[in-house]
Amino acid sequence: MSKKTKWGFSTKSIHIGNKANQKHGSVAPPIHLTSTFKQDGVGQNRGHDYSRVSNPTRNRLEENLAAVEGSKFAICYSSGMAATTALFQLFDKGDHILVSRNTYGGTYRMAMNVLSRQGIEFEWIDTRNTKNIDKRIKENTKLVHVESPTNPLLELCDIQAAAEICESKNVLLSVDNTFMSPYGQRPLDLGANITMQSSTKSLSGHSDILGGVLATNKEDLYEKLQFMLKATGGVPSPFDNWLTLRSTKTLALRYQRAADNAFDLAKWLSMHKKVSKTIYPGLDSHPQHEIACKQQLSPKGENVFGSMLSIDLGDVEFRDRFLKNIEIFQLAESLGSVESLVCVPYFMTHAAVPVETKLEMGITESLVRLSIGIEDIEDLKNDLAIALEK
Ligand code: PLP
Repeated sequence: MSKKTKWGFSTKSIHIGNKANQKHGSVAPPIHLTSTFKQDGVGQNRGHDYSRVSNPTRNRLEENLAAVEGSKFAICYSSGMAATTALFQLFDKGDHILVSRNTYGGTYRMAMNVLSRQGIEFEWIDTRNTKNIDKRIKENTKLVHVESPTNPLLELCDIQAAAEICESKNVLLSVDNTFMSPYGQRPLDLGANITMQSSTKSLSGHSDILGGVLATNKEDLYEKLQFMLKATGGVPSPFDNWLTLRSTKTLALRYQRAADNAFDLAKWLSMHKKVSKTIYPGLDSHPQHEIACKQQLSPKGENVFGSMLSIDLGDVEFRDRFLKNIEIFQLAESLGSVESLVCVPYFMTHAAVPVETKLEMGITESLVRLSIGIEDIEDLKNDLAIALEK
């Protein structure tokens, strides 16, 4: 066994895929900003011929991400949506895919408006109860795609239980692990076949790139995905890959600090008289807290409950006053970055989801999602306190 497989999470994230440059010894590896590669003769390239097919910087990022995921393979895409689309495109007309009901709104938009038109059948189910997965798997079901925690209600799915059901029925299980990152949850270790992440979020963590990644241990899936990526072309740019590689070096530090901040704020907000509801998997009041304790674990085995929390402010006028008075938190889509962000999922991330579906799930107009960054906790608390009191 190679020494590297025994390295800890941070040592892997810093060193794998980041070997010093052979020729000049630069500790920060070079970036290959090139679309094409000079060939020594017809059919004689030096490992790469065209950057849609492969690029040394992308390959290094894939090596790095596979190491932090603990997977055999990782494939990088130009965005999280490009990764999820590639995953769903593994299937054909007439195939059935089950998806967690309050998954990211963009996943819903793509499935219902793009791939449904091409004949893939989607069904949205409540994966808080894994019996629903068991009940809804049909003869033509090929994939169960869960998000845990979901966006923005932080509903959880017991990944290990879901994996056991899928395996017994010969159906693949994929997990959108964007909210947790591989630092906080490793679905492949729990029995899932594929993990998907939007690397736009915690993996890159600085709100400056778009990217996505799929990781798997299954060689047949990897080969199909590689072929499809070459054929369809949703590849990330070398520069974005390089920035992501630089960022995963600090993933453990950033994620732990953001999760510590989020836990502290969730406890405080849950006691605040002006907040109608606080949703955070680390709170005892979260209906699935036990599942969070079981599967949301740092690589060292300690509970880490994530950097995302949602609060319901009860009415729209109060919501608007709160948003007007908040200063450090910025009103913006996205999450998982060093800076704290706030959004109103009803109108922003979940705009594509039908109104009745949103309301049935609890995505109200006054629900506010907070993505907690790594600022000083006292400043974040103060910022929220002022906005809630004004
Ligand atoms: N999955 C989740 C949980 C997300 O929150 C997002 C984006 O917010 C995506 C997937 C899509 O990622 P991207 O915006 O990189 O396409």
